Amino acid sequence: MAKIKYRFKVDRDLCIPAMACILAEPNIYELDESGKAVVKKEVTLETLRELARDGDWVVVESEEQIYERVLDSAKVCPVLAIIVEIEENGEWKRVYPE
Ligand code: SF4
Repeated sequence: MAKIKYRFKVDRDLCIPAMACILAEPNIYELDESGKAVVKKEVTLETLRELARDGDWVVVESEEQIYERVLDSAKVCPVLAIIVEIEENGEWKRVYPE
């Protein structure tokens, strides 16, 4: 199955923190010592493979099914603090929030 390369992050300035992302995907997100959500140091999620960290961005590759899960986890955030971008022709294209 084809893999999708994408990146996502929590915009910590926006995070309130409502915890919805952590409840939805405890294998991806956690609260840090300042009480804001972060992507865990090591994300382990079925076919998801971490490629790099770039500041707060976590660059990953996974099958579409897992990509949809990451996207869904962004959609539960009430303040749109989780940003997802997909790689297209070597450029990052914003997927969520639009
Ligand atoms: S759902 Fe949004 S506001 Fe709530 S902890 Fe996660 S990133 Fe922060």
